[in-house]
Amino acid sequence: MKDYLVKASAYDNQIRIYAATTTDMVNEAVGRHGVWPTAAAALGRTMITGTMMGAMLKGEDKVTIKVEGDGPVGPIIVDSDAHGNTRGYVYNPAVHFDLNANGKLDVARAVGTNGHIAITKNLGMKEQFTGHSPIVSGELGEDFTYYFAKSEQIPSSVGVGVLVDTDHSIKAAGGFILQVMPGADDATVTKVEQQIGAMPPVSKLIERGDSPEQIIATVTGGEYKKLETMDVAFKCECSRERIARAIVSLGSDEIQSMIEEDGGAETQCHFCNEKYDFNEVDLQELKDEANAH
Ligand code: ZN
Repeated sequence: MKDYLVKASAYDNQIRIYAATTTDMVNEAVGRHGVWPTAAAALGRTMITGTMMGAMLKGEDKVTIKVEGDGPVGPIIVDSDAHGNTRGYVYNPAVHFDLNANGKLDVARAVGTNGHIAITKNLGMKEQFTGHSPIVSGELGEDFTYYFAKSEQIPSSVGVGVLVDTDHSIKAAGGFILQVMPGADDATVTKVEQQIGAMPPVSKLIERGDSPEQIIATVTGGEYKKLETMDVAFKCECSRERIARAIVSLGSDEIQSMIEEDGGAETQCHFCNEKYDFNEVDLQELKDEANAH
């Protein structure tokens, strides 16, 4: 089943729900970065959330999530856009622990239970907004729920799940974000809270291979209106040309020392691990370009 996202409304537009399956997306990130299972669950949960937050944006807007806990994985960075493209990495991918008391991957131990989340939205060319919230559990679903309440004042519920196979590939990944729209009545909020309280954990839904529509039906109790469907995938915006522009911007002196000291430049994209090599001839060309500016 291809990864996709569904945006829906329920209870006469008083509730907005985003749900996505992201198995291939998370699997590609985990493969590219060689991420071990517990770290993979942490990165995957962040990528699912980023993908759904991206779907809340329009046009060329982008969102970056940075989770900085005191656990061994270190910072987790995820970028998403409004068109279903997400990329991400974790500082220390080689982190894995025994399952926790609930028989689940111990994400809180990998992420840490102290620290903070920073979410930056790039809206248009110059407008940028960053919201912060503390890490409250380290399991990430609860932490993003808290972020929406604290930083954006939107009562929400975030459920994210990643299932890792014995060969370390991703068996299933997905989740939902439910948001209460301004002006929603108390009876609706109570009903939704009861529904979410009674539903099985999101990891169960992911494990049995529920589609985004099935996840939405479970979260809302059945009645919902589909607003939009979108394909989602791992995609990085890096390219040789972009790296070349970055080298030119260093200026000719800096490029000259790269030529003299290293005889070239080797760079690697943090987000997707793609390698870009520039030999002496390449750098000479970029140096001439820098001089021409
Ligand atoms: Zn890249």
